[in-house]
Amino acid sequence: MHLETFCGGMVETNGYLVSDDGVAVAVDAPEGMADFVASALGKRGAKLAALLLTHGHWDHIVDAAAIQGRFGTPVFIHRDSSPLIERPEIQAAFHPLSAIPPCTPDRRLDAEREMEIGPFRFGLLFCPGHCPGSLSFHLAAAKWLFGGDVLFARSVGRWDLPGGSREDLLSSIREKMFVLPEETVVYPGHGPATTIGRERCFNPYVS
Ligand SMILES: [Zn+2]
Ligand SMILES: [Zn+2]
Repeated sequence: MHLETFCGGMVETNGYLVSDDGVAVAVDAPEGMADFVASALGKRGAKLAALLLTHGHWDHIVDAAAIQGRFGTPVFIHRDSSPLIERPEIQAAFHPLSAIPPCTPDRRLDAEREMEIGPFRFGLLFCPGHCPGSLSFHLAAAKWLFGGDVLFARSVGRWDLPGGSREDLLSSIREKMFVLPEETVVYPGHGPATTIGRERCFNPYVS
């Protein structure tokens, strides 16, 4: 299983591409992600099977419509975050871009469950508190967690944006993430990767 990391856009947002056996899945779509995916797919000889969005904030969705159109890839997002990508102008007050192309998701997720995509089995963790409908995608086989803007290395996501809640955010981290094996690597929406074990010991907000 391969993992490639991209970082792009005005607030340095991470996007990830997991691939195995000629199948790839992208997580989040910051500005520039579509070109990155094209070159990574070429290098791996892989086909893109899905774009998973951790949440609908503008910096994670700039290239969602481009990826959906260019690769014919279904887009998955939580039902509660879906309005943010269908009508990105809702977020216009929070970002400096003139316009973000709207994207109609192919699947609006609403339950915590396992989801099979090609050779991958993702666990869906509902982690509210940062954004309505925040999801984390857990690849248990690799011990990887694509956490979005919930838990960062030595920090946590903002809770002061619309629909945010500090209490919900910290509960999401404690009840959904900190119960995972401590060697699980967390790939966040911003900044470097970390592990559940490290954050359980050293994160000043939740340890
Ligand atoms: Zn966010
Ligand atoms: Zn973000």
